[in-house]
Amino acid sequence: MSIKDKIINYNNKMKGNTKLIAVSKTKPIENVQEAYDAGQRLFGENKALEMRDKYLALPKDIRWHFIGHLQTNKIKYIAPFVELIHSVDSLNLLTQINKEAIKNNRVIDCLLQIDIAHEETKFGLDDDSAKELLESEEFSQLKNIRICGLMGIGSITDDKSKTRQEFKHLKELFNCFKEKYFADCDYFSEISMGMSDDFEIAIEEGATYIRIGSSIFGARDYVSKN
Ligand SMILES: *Cc1c(COP(=O)(O)O)cnc(C)c1O
Repeated sequence: MSIKDKIINYNNKMKGNTKLIAVSKTKPIENVQEAYDAGQRLFGENKALEMRDKYLALPKDIRWHFIGHLQTNKIKYIAPFVELIHSVDSLNLLTQINKEAIKNNRVIDCLLQIDIAHEETKFGLDDDSAKELLESEEFSQLKNIRICGLMGIGSITDDKSKTRQEFKHLKELFNCFKEKYFADCDYFSEISMGMSDDFEIAIEEGATYIRIGSSIFGARDYVSKN
């Protein structure tokens, strides 16, 4: 199936609040353009410079979402145009994003990345650290960022009930934070979870963004890239 057909297929599966992010990391401009020509506007990248280069080369109505681990010295490359940063995992990173947002005279929307899988290779805040961040004095001073919800990456596993438990947990934490900290904030409304292998469960458990890469664009070849 072509990229175009896959984009159309996936978008037909979206219902309610769920939106498809096409994760184009490591893939060439032509692939992104093909997805764009099929109507896709939301794209996800996990490297700041790669995202900046694609932003410069491609149509300006693409909405770029950053989904990877973000180094503070790279924020400046994406701050002018990024629509949503899914992967905020520390108060320091948020403070630096706020600084770059001020320089660009804008507000940058962010999600807090929560460590739902507890695998060593994954980033993210544990529940208590996320609470601490949201209750901190420093956080209350950051006027050029908005926390719009939570993001999580499920375990790499064939055990569907484990994955479902992780997504349920993220949704519960979202509800808890909504009530406690964001009751009056309409913008706190997003739950980013689900990838090629587990997006169906994520949709059932209330994902508002799913992030699909390899099953749209094909397997990634990291070896020749690096
Ligand atoms: C690469 C990546 C995805 C997409 O993964 P696929 O398994 O290729 O669909 C989703 N989310 C994050 C955070 C990623 O880094």
